[in-house]
This record gives sequence, structure tokens and C-alpha cells, in this order.
Amino acid sequence: MIHNPPNPCAGTAVRATLVPAQNVLREAMTNAPKTSFADHYALSELPYFEVRDGSLVLADPDSVGPIIDMHTHLALAYGRPMPIDLWRRCPCELYLPLERKLDLDVYANLNYLESDLKGLKRDLTLGSLTSGGMRASHTAANLIHHMKELGIHASVLLPIDMPALSWNAEAYLGVASRSNVLLSYGSVHPHARHVEDKLDEQKKKGAKGIKFHPTAQVVKPDGARSMELYQLCAERDLPVLFHCGPVGIEPPLGRYLSQLKHYWMPIAKTPECTFILGHSGALQMEHALELAKTYPNVYLELASQSYSNIVRILAEAPQDRILFGTDWPFYHQSMGLAKVLLATEGQPELRKRVLYENAGQLLGLEFE
Ligand SMILES: [Zn+2]
Repeated sequence: MIHNPPNPCAGTAVRATLVPAQNVLREAMTNAPKTSFADHYALSELPYFEVRDGSLVLADPDSVGPIIDMHTHLALAYGRPMPIDLWRRCPCELYLPLERKLDLDVYANLNYLESDLKGLKRDLTLGSLTSGGMRASHTAANLIHHMKELGIHASVLLPIDMPALSWNAEAYLGVASRSNVLLSYGSVHPHARHVEDKLDEQKKKGAKGIKFHPTAQVVKPDGARSMELYQLCAERDLPVLFHCGPVGIEPPLGRYLSQLKHYWMPIAKTPECTFILGHSGALQMEHALELAKTYPNVYLELASQSYSNIVRILAEAPQDRILFGTDWPFYHQSMGLAKVLLATEGQPELRKRVLYENAGQLLGLEFE
């Protein structure tokens, strides 16, 4: 007889953990750090950062140790092969400008002004058919420049491809093959033709895993073709990094597709596949946390989560399965880094695991 595996997103399991979590939160709140800033440069009020020659930099990288960013993107192109020179160094226009007021204790996208969101949406839709826009500055050269300023040793690029007329994985893997600080995931749409051949080809070109984005790819995480894809990824030892959870600014269909209830079946029914929940479930963090506590094949990636939620995740999730990520170029990497540094203050072992060791193990990287 086949038993259905537990689905923490459906039942009452979430409630049972609220009591200890509140204690953790209350404790953290009593010495709550400053989390709102006039702009990104004001992060230099924290002991970790300073402004040097007009740039926000990590003040003392040695005291922090190596850092791996598990969640970055370059420009994405659709309709034709990458028309943007990904090695161009130029002034970088992030979707959240450095001049914006910064609140570290809300979901990251609440820092956008209406006008920022408009620009972002235009850039990612119509813009992705062109070679212009802010996207033209979302290059590997600009990312590497920011990484140097912030003491980030390696970043993982996450391409997103459609079933046809899209070559982002190819472009990103090409970039990573020419860099010793960038690694790349691949992307194969579950409804693409020749899924197995594509996975093999991307793995051969160095893909460290596969990015899956239900909203952007317009596909259900627990659909039949998606389930087949995870099986094929497991057979090839390719972890799957999900965009996981609704973020509040996507269209209704995307919001439906990214509900956490669609993630537990892949995780439960493909135990031999490693799943990384990008954004730790976004606005449904509780459910993602439960999945990580219930299933050993689940990692949580912290990009965009609020400071308080990160404190909570660090206190409750398995500490060897938490990953640092920033979602550059949506945000400057300092935003995510500031939150993790604050949340791991006084816990050097945990900080090392989250910023570097867990990702290093997953990617097969060794520094030192
Ligand atoms: Zn992302």
C-alpha cells in the first residue's frame, strides 16, 4: 500500500511550531538591530560596510570569510540568441536603485517605488525582445565588479528558458565557462522538445543544476511534465532551484502557479532529487520552512526574505541546508548580505555555513 507522504502545506503542522518560533523572535527583537536606512550607502552605518571612493564596499572581507551568492541573473533574452554583450563594463542600473530608502525587515520588493516596478516590468517583458533598456547593464562584467566590492567569491547564474526561441542557458553557461568566479545553472522547460538531450548537453557545458521558474515559465511545479523533469535531473545529479512562492507583484496566473501547495509533491515524490527553494517560499515562508524541516532533500535560499524571517529560518531550519542569495540585478548584493550578517552576528560557525560552506558543498567548490 502506498502512503501519501506528509504535506506540511496542507495540514495543521505549521501551527504546531509557532510557539517556540515566537520565543526565538521575541529574543531577537529585544536586541533588534537597525533595519531601515536612508539609502544603500547608509548601510555603512553598520559595522560591516563602508563607502570608499563613492562605492559601498565590505569593510573587512577577511573578518567575514568567503561568500557564495546562490541566486543571480544576467540579462535574459527571448525571441533570439542573447543580443547583449555580457562582458561589457558600464554604469549598472539595478532594478532597485542604490538611492532608494531601504527597509531590511520587509519582503525586498516592498522597497520598490511604483515607478521602479513599472520600469522593471517593462524591462522584463517588451525589453527582453530588444538589446536595450536597463537589462543592457546586467552583464557579467558588472556583476563581477559588485562581487569584488562586497567580497563575494563566487556567484551562481540562473537562466530561465521557454520551450522554444530562447537560449539563455547557453548564454549563461558560455559566460561561466570563461570565468573563475561565476558558475551557472541550466534551464530546460518541462514542455521543451528533447528534454533529456538538453539536460545532458547543459550538464556537459558545466551546469551545476537546473533553474525552474513557474511564474516566468508559466508552468505548474507539480504538473506531469515537471515531475518527469525532476526525475531526469535526479538521474543526472542536477539539483533543481525553484523560484519558490508568490512575491505579490506577479500577474494572477503566476501567483497561482507559485503557491507553496504545488511544491510539496515534487519534493515528496522525488526524494533522490535535491530541491533548493529560492526566496525560501517568498510570502509563504512558513510553508517552505516546514518543507525543509520535513524533507531532507530541501534547501532554503534566502534572497529577498525580511531580516526577521531570516532570523526565524536560521533558528529553525536545518543549518546545513540554508543558502545565501541576493537576486542581483533586482537588488544590489549588499541588501541580502546586510541581513545575513546582522542575523548571524555572534554566530561565526552559522555565518560560515550560510555564506559559504553549504553552497560550497552543493557546488563541489573548495577554497582555502
Ligand atoms: Zn531570481
